[in-house]
Order: sequence, then structure tokens, then C-alpha cells
Amino acid sequence: MEIKFEQVNYTYNLRTPLAKKVLNDISLIIPANKINGIVGPVGSGKTTMMELINGLIFPTRGIVTVGDYTIKKSIKGKQLNKLRFDVGIVFQFPEEQFFNITVKEEIIFALQHYQYHLKEIDDRINKALQMVGLNETFLDRNPFNLSGGEKRKVAIASILVFNPKVIILDEPTVGLDYNSKKKLIQLIKKLRKNYHKTIIICTHDVDMLYQIADNIIVINKGNIIIDGPKEEVFSKEELLKANGVGLPKILTFVNKARNNKGINLVNCTDIKDLIKDVYRNV
Ligand code: ADP
Repeated sequence: MEIKFEQVNYTYNLRTPLAKKVLNDISLIIPANKINGIVGPVGSGKTTMMELINGLIFPTRGIVTVGDYTIKKSIKGKQLNKLRFDVGIVFQFPEEQFFNITVKEEIIFALQHYQYHLKEIDDRINKALQMVGLNETFLDRNPFNLSGGEKRKVAIASILVFNPKVIILDEPTVGLDYNSKKKLIQLIKKLRKNYHKTIIICTHDVDMLYQIADNIIVINKGNIIIDGPKEEVFSKEELLKANGVGLPKILTFVNKARNNKGINLVNCTDIKDLIKDVYRNV
């Protein structure tokens, strides 16, 4: 599903003394079936954008469209529910919101509010588990006893049961160890490639984005600074720095090798490829 922001403004506490404008006339297209990263300093407006896409809030001015939905106050009831099925958000540290004692209950918790037959619920759980790469033995386990990476997979599965077309992930890698991070990255890639999801990742982890994102959006103080293919965005080091966004470590290394040592390494996104290329060159 393509997402479009057209001259969108958002003001919290509108028409009160506490009014605060946090998005300033932003216009951009977030393409379908891509991995799109949103980066920017704390307080720049990333969460506000996420909440607009999911219809948790509505633009103060301007238009947000998500596929065929127009996000506005008049979107209510069934239509709003459908939107929330189509756009799933996995919030930061989702495992902190677990409160069921089995993985199965955790995954179907939100689904239970809708009138599905038991068979359909089972089918949806099995499909979601398969998508995140957990087997059926996990269903009876206590979610609190899983590893950090497994917990996050359960949280993603609890969104996938709704079969969303858009998945928004808020800081998905935060707090995970190296291996869990690697597995999560593979999962996100799989969701796009095999299941054709549109992925939006809000994060500070530019290293992860450099590995998996197709496009990057940089936002600061409610303004879109740049958006486009990751190679283009990460080539603007000064602009990024001025807006509180650092370069991925691999790219910093490749740039230093070129500028300080005259060594031209390939612009790879994977550390293993980089090491191979370093060996070829030294
Ligand atoms: P980010 O996700 O990039 O950290 P947010 O979208 O959460 O940024 O916040 C953007 C700005 O909006 C910040 O200045 C924040 O303080 C303000 N803000 C966020 N939520 C509210 C709210 N409910 N009421 C008032 N201001 C808010």
C-alpha cells in the first residue's frame, strides 16, 4: 500500500494554550512493498507520522492517504477498523506490554475482539507463526520466558494475524543482542520479499537501515529534510550531520579508506562483504 502525505500539518492540543505544531507542511510518498526507514532526532515527529498512518490521530491540515483510505476525522467505525487491520504498528519494547501467560493467548488477544470462527483463528495463528519462523511448540510457552528475539517475534506475530499490508516497526532492534538482531533483520526482509508487505521502520539504528532499507526519510523538527533511495540519502553526510543523523559505520569506514588512504572499497552493506573487499585491497 502506498502512503502519501500532502502538505500535512499536525498540532497537538489544538486551540488550547498548550498548542504545539510538530509537523510542518510535510509532503512525501512512502512507496508500497519497500522497506522504508524514518530517522531523526528524538522529538522530530516520527511517532506522530506513524500515528497518522494508523489513524490514531488525524492531520490538523493537509491529506494523508494510505492506499484507498483517506485519514481524516470522518473515518470511523468499520472503515477505521479496516484501516487498523491493514496498518499494523509494533511499538517500541512490545514485550513490555505482554500480559498473557501463553504465546497463543498473547497472539490472539486482539483478534478475539472480532467475530472469527475458531478454525479461522487457528489458521491465522499458524500462518503468523510460520511467517515469523516460530514453530507450534511455542504456542503453549510462557511469553515471559522467551529470549529477547523470540519475544519480539511473538509481538510481530500478534500484528501479522490481522494480515496487515503495512507494518510499522518502532525501534525494532533496540535492546536485542547481535544474533537476535540478525534474525530480526532476516525476518523483516522476508516480510517484504515473500509476503509483499510495505515496511516502515522508525529507528536510530542507521547501521540496520543501511543493511535493509530501500528508502530513507530524514525528519527534523517536523520538517522532511530529505527522502529517497538509501544510497542517495547516505551520500549527504553534511546534511545528515546537521540534522543529528550519523552515517552507518560501514559507510564511514569505506569513506575513510577512500579519502585518507586512497583505497576504493565497494559500497557494500554487509560487514562480511566489506571484510572480503578489504582483504582484496590490502
Ligand atoms: P519522535 O517520535 O521523533 O521522538 P514525536 O512525534 O513523539 O517525535 O514528537 C514530536 C513532538 O511532539 C515532540 O516535541 C513531542 O514533545 C511532541 N508531542 C508528542 N506527543 C505529544 C502530546 N501528546 N502532546 C503534546 N506534545 C506532544
